[in-house]
Amino acid sequence: MRHPADGEAWKEFDRTFPVFAADPQNVRLGLATDGFNPSIDVYLRPLVDELKDLWTNGVRTYDKPTGKMFTLRAAVMWTVNDFSAYAIVSGWSTKGYMACPLCKENVTSGWHAGKVGYLGHRRWLPWDHEWREKDKEFDGNTEHRLRPREWSGDEILEQLNRLVFSPFGKTVTRTKPSTHLN
Ligand SMILES: [Zn+2]
Repeated sequence: MRHPADGEAWKEFDRTFPVFAADPQNVRLGLATDGFNPSIDVYLRPLVDELKDLWTNGVRTYDKPTGKMFTLRAAVMWTVNDFSAYAIVSGWSTKGYMACPLCKENVTSGWHAGKVGYLGHRRWLPWDHEWREKDKEFDGNTEHRLRPREWSGDEILEQLNRLVFSPFGKTVTRTKPSTHLN
């Protein structure tokens, strides 16, 4: 992959939103959160509103080469962050035995060397990958399980829409509803 346009995410986005993709003046964004402090959600709220407006309505913009105005639209394609910032940006808890955001409810985790470790990721390899048969090099077991089910964006959005958020503040007592996956 020489450019993000070579990636499957970009191609799938173009297939899903052909009108957006057909206009070369529209932009695709990556949101990098490295270096933000833990209260990033305060800053993200107005940004989310602006990004929704950029996606839905666009913004009138001056095109210098033609001297004309046009409507620029934008889409966030990626977020770039470390694992701890991932929790704050996405709302997915990165702590505890269920924290792997890829395996989700099918996670294999355990306590090792004083911390929770996430194992079993050879399940994501192709079925005939040589590492599946190696035992001594890993945890002493071969891996014959199927890869976990991948959730669609619509399914994840439906889960997010069921979340109940507590008020912000250091003095607010929060209880985790039993319906939360993680
Ligand atoms: Zn995992």
